[in-house]
Amino acid sequence: MTASDHTDILPFRLVRNDSPASPAQRAEVLGQPSFGQHFSDHMVLIEWDRERGWHDGRVEPIGPLPLHPAAGVLHYGQEVFEGLKIYRHGNGRLVAFRPELNAARIQRSAHRLALPEIPADLFLGAVDALAAADADWVPTRHGDSLYLRPFLVATEAFLGVRPTNQALFGIIASPAGAYFSGDAEGVSLWLSTDLARAGRGGTGAAKCGGNYAASLLAQEEAKEHGCAQVLFTDAETNTWVEEAGSMNVFFTFADGTLVTPPATGTILEGVTRDSVLALAADLGHQVEERPIGIDEWRSAASSGELAEVFASGTAAVITPIECLVTADDRIVTPTPGLGPVAGRIREELVGIQTGMVEDRFGWLREAGAGRDC
Ligand SMILES: *Cc1c(COP(=O)(O)O)cnc(C)c1O
Repeated sequence: MTASDHTDILPFRLVRNDSPASPAQRAEVLGQPSFGQHFSDHMVLIEWDRERGWHDGRVEPIGPLPLHPAAGVLHYGQEVFEGLKIYRHGNGRLVAFRPELNAARIQRSAHRLALPEIPADLFLGAVDALAAADADWVPTRHGDSLYLRPFLVATEAFLGVRPTNQALFGIIASPAGAYFSGDAEGVSLWLSTDLARAGRGGTGAAKCGGNYAASLLAQEEAKEHGCAQVLFTDAETNTWVEEAGSMNVFFTFADGTLVTPPATGTILEGVTRDSVLALAADLGHQVEERPIGIDEWRSAASSGELAEVFASGTAAVITPIECLVTADDRIVTPTPGLGPVAGRIREELVGIQTGMVEDRFGWLREAGAGRDC
């Protein structure tokens, strides 16, 4: 689909929030942003139905959505989402980090959940429209960002089980701090063996709410064992490392090799994962996407071949993993805290995101440019 196919909805209609947060309230939030707790003044909404396709794109005051109680999302979980960040550079320019990958991924997720695939240029236009309307909500402090949460839900009021004929795409925005508690020290993981988040042929590679719902009980189990996050292995054999909570996992070995499990359908292909792999290769590391088992993790940790373990995701970027707690033992990562390899990768990645390091891969896209909302 080309841009001209939906010129009737671009630019987005703007309904300004006439009771936005005051500059003082906004300053208070931006001074202490944490994660996902506070929201900007506006949201983007775009309607879809089978006859008309995508229509009625608008930016409007953030608030509750009118939703029929029979809407498909409420009963059958037909929902997908995304997460990406907008940074304010020193020159005042607003940039989104690799939003094209989020646009492509929500299409793949939507396809798996039998939802309509939003065209990439419409997705990117929506990012621009919200960035322009809520530019004041993009933090100025180095490393802080405006986290965007796009989502797509089935809204048709119909209790029969089949793909929805009506959907709603939206984006909301929440200021995010650069660092999280436990970030620098690292987190412990609990090895879940009885609860799985994804299986072969399932929705593990789609970013859908159902995967998260399926992970919450395991997450609670991790907490009961004193761990911050859960480590998921393959559902069939509990042998192979898959994901840490909602982050991708990496291992660095003493010889400089970086290993991450392959994306074969049960793992979510993170934008951060892709960026870490590209940066590691660029920094001269041997990079391997291959299965890595708990046994190898355990033996490499005790032999000294393993150096670092860390997880990646948009929200916290890089999180060191201190140890893996299993029912029988505790595998301690040889390098405590943020190791030199993870540290170097994070420095480069955050450097590019914040404009301190040259964008040599062309990962930044100006957000809200040329829009006068
Ligand atoms: C979103 C997500 C990730 C990380 O993806 P990023 O694009 O790097 O934020 C990893 N695992 C799961 C299950 C996710 O939903």
